[in-house]
Amino acid sequence: MANTSFRVQANKFSQDNIQATLVCSKCDEVFSKEFPLDLEGQTSEFKCPVCGVPGEVDLPYKSADEREEIEEDFEEVEEEESGEESEDEY
Ligand SMILES: [Zn+2]
Repeated sequence: MANTSFRVQANKFSQDNIQATLVCSKCDEVFSKEFPLDLEGQTSEFKCPVCGVPGEVDLPYKSADEREEIEEDFEEVEEEESGEESEDEY
């Protein structure tokens, strides 16, 4: 039985995960799914949430631009943590 494949239509890297918009080659439905960052550039196997067919997707690598954005975000977080006097915003 040949595996179904999911095509990556769009993807976005956050600090915690990979948010991908995928198309199922079996039912042709578009859905979104989140993957752990560890799976960057690897093949992930899962079942289609629409039709339930098992398949796999080749996840992309983060682009250089996205890496820079995430590094900047980390710097901002460090600055916020160094000044802990803004608690009453919550
Ligand atoms: Zn499907």
